[in-house]
Amino acid sequence: MSIELATAPDKRLTTLREGLEQDIKPLGDRYTDDHLPLDMLPGLVQTLYGHGYPTDSSDEVASAMASEELARVFPSLEGCLMISQACAHYITDAGPPELRDRAAPRLLAGEQIGCVASTEPNHGSNNAAMETRAVLRGDEYVINGRKRWISNADISDYAVVLCRVGTDSRPELRPIIVERERSPYRTRDLPKLGLKAFVTSEIIFENCRVPRENCIGPAGSLKNLQLIFKKLQWSRCRMAVISLGIARAALEASVIYARKRRQFGRPIGEFQLIQDKIYMMATEIEASRLLIHRALAAIQEDRRSDREASMAKAYATEMAVRVTSEAIQIHGANGLSPDYPLERHFRDARALTIAEGTTEIHKLVVARSVLGLSAFR
Ligand SMILES: Cc1cc2nc3c(=O)[nH]c(=O)nc-3n(C[C@H](O)[C@H](O)[C@H](O)COP(=O)(O)OP(=O)(O)OC[C@H]3O[C@@H](n4cnc5c(N)ncnc54)[C@H](O)[C@@H]3O)c2cc1C
Repeated sequence: MSIELATAPDKRLTTLREGLEQDIKPLGDRYTDDHLPLDMLPGLVQTLYGHGYPTDSSDEVASAMASEELARVFPSLEGCLMISQACAHYITDAGPPELRDRAAPRLLAGEQIGCVASTEPNHGSNNAAMETRAVLRGDEYVINGRKRWISNADISDYAVVLCRVGTDSRPELRPIIVERERSPYRTRDLPKLGLKAFVTSEIIFENCRVPRENCIGPAGSLKNLQLIFKKLQWSRCRMAVISLGIARAALEASVIYARKRRQFGRPIGEFQLIQDKIYMMATEIEASRLLIHRALAAIQEDRRSDREASMAKAYATEMAVRVTSEAIQIHGANGLSPDYPLERHFRDARALTIAEGTTEIHKLVVARSVLGLSAFR
């Protein structure tokens, strides 16, 4: 069974949902502790397109609805594709023309994998203090530094790396596109609690030489920072979409269970305390979806969206932790068993309050925008 969207579901979404249920869900249930074999990806992407998963994000809200469907059955796969898409967007929006033609289509087709690297061992929330440096030597930038917890990095062909670029006195933050085959970097897998098929890794840059034109934007331009913020807001919303899909899977499993499981001679779904949980889960899922769609619409229309994206990201990812936790409760001891998917949904949801900025940081962004006072120094 499936919980319908507040708005009337269109036929394409229903077709996509049925296709994903049939072809992708079995893989989502299978690859819970291992990485998905890389050579399966291009075929899977073609399968997704065949079922109506959009090939681009020209309509952000429609793309988010499709991504929610994929995240409902295989959140790690949606995470992997979304991050590759984020990398492709940097290349298409601001990369050198030669890479735009060569790299972006292959990234979007799942034939190659991209990552976006900001977090470092010593700088996570405070990424403005990052230490990875890129120094211009002739026609190349030479990158030195370490990035940590980078989605897709271990399997990546391209990395968009946020670096300090320029002189010691005035280094500015700029994204540099690194093509792994031409400019090798080392990676190391970092296992984690949930979303285990969504690879996270350390990247080590040691005198990594990258063509000068791969450094995005003109030096000293405010546009570089604006581009980074805009991309961040997009990926925050899309991380929130993954939470939404996970929460929906947990709610749907709970509805089935609450109808079937009997105690005291009645289905447990007839008990009002269980109904209260179902109310909370369904309502918070709808509220999250509306916040996410509103933020994505603002991004699409090029309106200011920092407050909206942070509200959506913080609310939806925390919502998924609450919803998956209540789903475990509804399932009783079975909820804790790996024979049921609930403990996996909970572990997956738990990872997302940290990825793409922690809840605490998003609360500070929202409060700064509402109050006009900043907690950041
Ligand atoms: C699944 C996953 C995928 C990820 N993918 C990527 C990726 O693709 N690219 C990338 O660059 N990074 C990625 N990350 C890293 C992620 O962005 C960082 O983990 C996150 O920004 C937090 O940084 P940190 O872990 O260093 O925590 P820290 O910044 O050290 O924070 C530790 C704690 O202190 C709190 N804190 C920090 N500052 C404040 C403050 N001012 N006020 C209140 N509380 C504060 C935080 O909220 C947190 O609770 C990923 C992480 C995960 C879990």
